[in-house]
Amino acid sequence: MKPEESENLLRIDLCRLKAEGELFEGEVDIIDCEEEYVHPFGGVRYSLFAKVIASELLVKGRLEQDFDLVCVRCGADFDMTCKVEDFIESYEINDKTEFVDLTNDARDSIILNLPTYPVCSETCPGVVMKSENFSDDRWNVLDDLKKEEGDK
Ligand SMILES: [Zn+2]
Repeated sequence: MKPEESENLLRIDLCRLKAEGELFEGEVDIIDCEEEYVHPFGGVRYSLFAKVIASELLVKGRLEQDFDLVCVRCGADFDMTCKVEDFIESYEINDKTEFVDLTNDARDSIILNLPTYPVCSETCPGVVMKSENFSDDRWNVLDDLKKEEGDK
């Protein structure tokens, strides 16, 4: 196994998996998000129970990933932990299967659980627009126009 594979993959070694099933817990760096306003930090914390039943590997458990997001209402950065409480997948296996790779499924379920419209808090007031400032701006525009007229 290459070193980078062991660090950035979430996979289960079937040869070492106990017959009665086994709980896997740890942290793995598998989220690599290029979105401008979505920055994962730390790794995915996982607590997954895996067990072979007939020709399938069943995996069930929890996943968590911390993110630095930008609030859609006020534009402020805030931290949020994205939690997947009910991760469940099954994988077809056979005698020759050595590893089952959960990386893509784990990554996808975290990304799908991210809020579509992240807000820093339910009570976020958003960007507070003062109506007087707004009208001030409009008067400034008029003032500029008047100056231009005067310059001619
Ligand atoms: Zn906000």
